[in-house]
Amino acid sequence: MKHRKFLYCHHCGNLLGLIHDAGVPISCCGELMQEPNLVDIKDGCRIHADGQTTVVDMNFPRDGVPQWVYLQTDIGGQRKKTEGFAKVEFHLGDHEEARAAYCYFSDRNIGMIEC
Ligand SMILES: [Zn+2]
Repeated sequence: MKHRKFLYCHHCGNLLGLIHDAGVPISCCGELMQEPNLVDIKDGCRIHADGQTTVVDMNFPRDGVPQWVYLQTDIGGQRKKTEGFAKVEFHLGDHEEARAAYCYFSDRNIGMIEC
């Protein structure tokens, strides 16, 4: 599966989620932006369907709750703030399937859960 591409500036903290990657380097603060570390966090976290709703259920006893979660599907994706909750719900279209969830904290690491 092709992962969603994010780019991070380690000077100012800007974080981009690319819609289309043309392959041209992107700069911020005078340097090329870097891809953040994707950390597998599937232990204790899961993505499951609850009727028409897809739920990303996170368990972060040490690291706290991420700021937002991006749910990648087979045809696109959605991003939502967690509002401090460890469970985030997404409403997908008919026949749309979740593929992975990306959980963003405040550093250059993004936790990833694959379906
Ligand atoms: Zn920057």
